[in-house]
Amino acid sequence: MAKKDYYEILGVSKDATDDEIKKAYRKLALKYHPDRNPDDPSAEEKFKELGEAYEVLSDADKRAAYDRFGHAAFEQGGPAAGGGYAGGGFQDPMDIFAQMFSGMGGFADMFGGAGRGGQKRSTKRPGSDLRYDLDITLEEAAKGCAKKLEIERLVTCKTCHGTGARDGKEAFKSCPTCQGRGIITQQSGFFVQQSTCPTCHGTGEIISDPCPVCRGEGRVREDSHITIRIPAGVATGSQLRIAGEGDAGVHGGPTGDLHVFIDVKPHDIFQREGNDLSCTVPVPLSLAVSGGRLKVPTLEGAATIKLPEGTQNGMIFRLRGKGVKALRSSDVGDMLVEVEVEIPSRLTKEQMDKLNAFASALDENRNQPACVEFADKAARYLKGK
Ligand SMILES: [Zn+2]
Ligand SMILES: [Zn+2]
Repeated sequence: MAKKDYYEILGVSKDATDDEIKKAYRKLALKYHPDRNPDDPSAEEKFKELGEAYEVLSDADKRAAYDRFGHAAFEQGGPAAGGGYAGGGFQDPMDIFAQMFSGMGGFADMFGGAGRGGQKRSTKRPGSDLRYDLDITLEEAAKGCAKKLEIERLVTCKTCHGTGARDGKEAFKSCPTCQGRGIITQQSGFFVQQSTCPTCHGTGEIISDPCPVCRGEGRVREDSHITIRIPAGVATGSQLRIAGEGDAGVHGGPTGDLHVFIDVKPHDIFQREGNDLSCTVPVPLSLAVSGGRLKVPTLEGAATIKLPEGTQNGMIFRLRGKGVKALRSSDVGDMLVEVEVEIPSRLTKEQMDKLNAFASALDENRNQPACVEFADKAARYLKGK
């Protein structure tokens, strides 16, 4: 079943601002909340859709991936090599809803006291996914390779072991910015603007004695070196998801993933089409006329093609299995060699005399049938005009 467009689900345009997306979600999520629609099972489905759409469009990285790849960006084993973006699927739509409305006192009552805002929220937050753009050569793409990447990312703070607390023991106090509500409220005219508290990131609590190295985040920015394996057969546009190599989570939250976007650099000699390679090889006129062996390059070294007598310009010869291995099977593409006959130029007087003598020795019907046939066709055409 085709999935609905996330922008359509929220009823916003493709260039909607974060604020517009938030407002659209807030309005629709309230309308379709299952607690408010107990007799309508389609409302729950709709509520789930809204949560998923909001989760993606409210996160700059995920939204960019969605704009570029559509739903495929989040599919396991999708078109992207190595799997999709999120891997672990989507968050519970109830959690997304709770994050949006947590701390907003009145909303809990709206659902007959069955609100979900009263729970103690965890200070754990997942780390972000990271993107790395990697240029590789055609040879590396065809054979696979190991690549050492240098990534600046957030890693778990070694001083406090990720707890964010000075002595390594987690002790919390109510956040002074939001008085423990996790949300700050600003009134302007009739409208009340709510936003997540920047001090406690919506948890309502802060660490009472923060670690001096990470200032309570539990993680620090660091240059990391990791070696990744590029499988044979990747192409420009291939994506690899390296699980657990993104930013570290906050206070023991799960680590994000690293998404490697592959770009294969153009090659001097070979062009690639799928798993096939092609190259154009200039051939001397005399060799094309007489036929013989032609040495051509391949990724595995030199190969030899046997040109037949009378090889024509533009003829293509296929070298089986000399292309690129397919990414997810053992199939191997071919090498297509196109012959380009080089017509001799800048002849000396003596060479030209010999060429003329050679030309007059030709039997046109036998040696150059295409020329004769076309001349006849053209003459008939011009006569009929
Ligand atoms: Zn706060
Ligand atoms: Zn620390």
